[in-house]
Amino acid sequence: MKCVICTLSETVDGLTSITFERGEFRLVINNVPARVCPSCGESYVGEDVALRLLNDAENVSSQGVIEDIIEYGQ
Ligand SMILES: [Zn+2]
Repeated sequence: MKCVICTLSETVDGLTSITFERGEFRLVINNVPARVCPSCGESYVGEDVALRLLNDAENVSSQGVIEDIIEYGQ
């Protein structure tokens, strides 16, 4: 698909990092599969991946962790 941010390039398969922030809670998830724009770096995460990220964030948050960095799929 064409990047909707810069409209210059077709997105390609790649990996990105997603950051969740909610109040004090901050979680970075690395190596998330996404479509990435080679021109501006914007990343597009699919719906199933996004759901998984939300689940992971809930799990980490429910353990009382304030800040963490994890790998996707672990
Ligand atoms: Zn772009």
